[in-house]
Amino acid sequence: MKNKKCFECDAGNYQIASVDYPVELSGGESFTVPKVKILRCDSCGDEVVPAESSAQIEAYVHDKTEVLTKDELYNMFRDVNLDQEKFANVVGLGQKTYHRWLKGIQTPSRSMGYYLRVLAHFPEVFDWVEKRGWRNDDNGCSAGCASCNIGCTKFGALQAKYAGRDINELAGDILYYRKGENPAQIFAEAV
Ligand SMILES: [Zn+2]
Repeated sequence: MKNKKCFECDAGNYQIASVDYPVELSGGESFTVPKVKILRCDSCGDEVVPAESSAQIEAYVHDKTEVLTKDELYNMFRDVNLDQEKFANVVGLGQKTYHRWLKGIQTPSRSMGYYLRVLAHFPEVFDWVEKRGWRNDDNGCSAGCASCNIGCTKFGALQAKYAGRDINELAGDILYYRKGENPAQIFAEAV
């Protein structure tokens, strides 16, 4: 690389240095990204992080925090054959939020990442969430277990888990979960 004049002091040139780069997240979590190439002025010590190193830092942070990457987010709505808008609606996100994630302006929280991954990996859960109509006011199950995807495909597992319980009572539990709880939770209960 050619010598590049310092933006700050005009006297020095940037030299490549390999550093352990400290990162602090807004949640208070902090760690060090090893072997990040930066440019450091040999006169005033001003430091610049080049674009490829920013990408390296971002990838490292994503890996460490298990944050969903943009690629994962793109694949999610493509895998379920929905456009971005419908996907965001189905999973209960605002359009703006989802677009910010796709652009990398914001990143989903860790727990949101887990939730979306559950939906992406278990199509029957996604189908159920889609049928449920997250954004509808009347989002409880009005038809009962006959039309409940969890009920249909996982009912055996639920029955085994709650062996000896009255089936209507069990259905009541499912409705309760559906109205008040995260779908990932009812799925976790069912498997
Ligand atoms: Zn300088």
